[in-house]
Amino acid sequence: MKIPIYLDYASTTPVDPKVSQKMIKYLTINGIFGNPNSRSHSYGWEAENAIIKARKQIASLIGADSEEIIFTSGATESNNIAIKNTSYLLKKRYKHIITSLTEHKSVLNICAKLEKKGFKITRIIPDINNGLINLKKILESIRSDTFLISLMHANNEIGTINDIKNIGKLCKNNNIIFHVDASQSVGKIPINLKKMNIDLMSFSSHKLYGPKGIGGLFIKKKSKIFLKKNIYQKNNNNNVQFGTLPVHQIVGMGEAYKIAKKEMFYEIPKLYYFKKKLWKGLKKISGIKINGDFKKSIPNILNISFNYIDNISLIMILKNLAISTGSACSSGNKESSYVLKSIGINDNLAKNTLRLSIGRFTTKKEINYSIKYIKDSIKKYNFFFKTL
Ligand code: PMP
Repeated sequence: MKIPIYLDYASTTPVDPKVSQKMIKYLTINGIFGNPNSRSHSYGWEAENAIIKARKQIASLIGADSEEIIFTSGATESNNIAIKNTSYLLKKRYKHIITSLTEHKSVLNICAKLEKKGFKITRIIPDINNGLINLKKILESIRSDTFLISLMHANNEIGTINDIKNIGKLCKNNNIIFHVDASQSVGKIPINLKKMNIDLMSFSSHKLYGPKGIGGLFIKKKSKIFLKKNIYQKNNNNNVQFGTLPVHQIVGMGEAYKIAKKEMFYEIPKLYYFKKKLWKGLKKISGIKINGDFKKSIPNILNISFNYIDNISLIMILKNLAISTGSACSSGNKESSYVLKSIGINDNLAKNTLRLSIGRFTTKKEINYSIKYIKDSIKKYNFFFKTL
């Protein structure tokens, strides 16, 4: 068993060895290293074919068509492209965007920038305690100039899953573009874009055992969205942007998504089982509390608060576990989590919080060790402070 035990899969996942083996074949002189834009020789054609195949694998996991996927550097960029381009395209007639207080910083930051440029932003407060976005609150926020609703599918800190299907229906009925940040949900819960009313969806590779630095944006064919062509170069990225595509990264992401599609139906129950086991083992610790909604959450995230121990002490006493106090983007930040505060958790308790996230390579032995280790460490900590 490798110590520290990795319990931070929500921040990033290791690349699956099957993925890295595949990627290596797309780098060196004896492999497929050509520029996919090169049309005059087989090196280029082979690279282009590899991209076509990967795009199909990615589309297949989420129920999209290949032409509906563009590649980006990750979900941060996808969120930026989706929100910014839609806003600038529609700015003459529409001004109002609806999002929520618990979105990822990449969504909140771009909304704040647009606000400074004259757009109006409504940030919905999620339901207290469970963190879900209530449909009624969305409906009440819609105005005549609302053109975009941008919400995450599953939250990266507490794991709660929003009712994206019904929010999509609501968007359709009100003629509003729907953008979903699905960075944490793709491959963790089934997604079929053919049955959901989503116009734009962001996702990443490194949350699903693929390489870092590559992600995607789904742009629904039938929706009336035409992304502003930032770089007017006809290429293999569905004519949207960028120069030479990173073939090895894209192939890696394609392979990772292919594996996820094949394995998710027994991987999901395994993760739910481990998460349940983890919580069952920990819930007897006095002063412990679970954040979010256990039932309506993705299988890999468990967010817990301890009544009397701050998270800096927790990280120190639990040094055999690689865990985080919240999202990776805010780790090291002394402020308590804005996600927890917006679901009504007081500042103190929000500071005493840990996110444990499990994944494909988590074992039963690691779960059992972690339960005992957390319990024993907290007992020792409490004993030490009581005797001071
Ligand atoms: N949205 C959510 C919900 C995330 O969890 C993350 C990753 N922390 C991102 C967006 C950004 O993804 P990436 O690292 O691929 O840019």
